[in-house]
Amino acid sequence: MEKLIQCPVCSSEQFNQVLTCTDYTTTNEEFVICQCTDCSFRFTNPRPDINNSGKYYQSEEYISHTDSNKGLLNKAYQIARDYMISTKYKSTVKKYNAKSLMDYGCGTGDFLKYCIDRNHDAIGLEIDNNARKIAIDKGCKEVYSPDHLTNIKPGSVDIITLWHVLEHIHDLHPTIQQFNRILTRNGTIVIAVPNHQSYDARCYGKYWAAYDVPRHLYHFNVASMTRLMNDKGFSLIETRTMRLDPFYIALLSNKYQTSRMNPIKAIYVGVIANLKTLFNISNSSSIIYIFKKQ
Ligand SMILES: [Zn+2]
Repeated sequence: MEKLIQCPVCSSEQFNQVLTCTDYTTTNEEFVICQCTDCSFRFTNPRPDINNSGKYYQSEEYISHTDSNKGLLNKAYQIARDYMISTKYKSTVKKYNAKSLMDYGCGTGDFLKYCIDRNHDAIGLEIDNNARKIAIDKGCKEVYSPDHLTNIKPGSVDIITLWHVLEHIHDLHPTIQQFNRILTRNGTIVIAVPNHQSYDARCYGKYWAAYDVPRHLYHFNVASMTRLMNDKGFSLIETRTMRLDPFYIALLSNKYQTSRMNPIKAIYVGVIANLKTLFNISNSSSIIYIFKKQ
């Protein structure tokens, strides 16, 4: 285990323990979440060190990295994911007129393939060997391990996308510096992460599925994400919601809280979350942040 003594965003040494969450996916171990008193950033602390985190990803239920068709929840997740891919593409890569792109943490390559099929010069980086193989089998030719990041030419990528990935990265600062290095002038970076201030997070507290300890090392809100990226030379130009996320997260959170699915409640929470998000993005279950390189 690795114990942080400073806030990973603002380096403050003042933070409080705010929640103890359980790893419902793999080990049932408990992990503490701390909140920085200066910048409101939350982080899992202590956390598994980088060489010891593999076991927390060893689960058939960890569906982000697989294409398993088993189970109602996986099926629902996949239908939602397919629907979301075109929305993601239109609102980022297409809207910002990017030609070349890098999808960091591309998983099994669905978004990457969608972009390749639309004639983008697209590469994917992915830490999981199996996911990488599946992506290559789907026709994504350029899929590498994250080590490849430092080999990419400076100023060569128009847009970088991270779909629910930044919250998993141990080497946060060096990785963001590399993103800045490889982006073209005025290049775009798209970061989608869960939002711990959201309506559904408030509903479920420590059972909120998007805490997903200890795989999620960081838990952002608008203030902490903006601060992190400003310090690395990026300006926030847009935030967007992901409308399907609160339904899925509520379904899973309810399962953690009561040991059973409750689709009616999940639909209720999802609808209220989306309505509240219309008035304030801080209610959104997940937020897509779009930054420009300064
Ligand atoms: Zn802080």
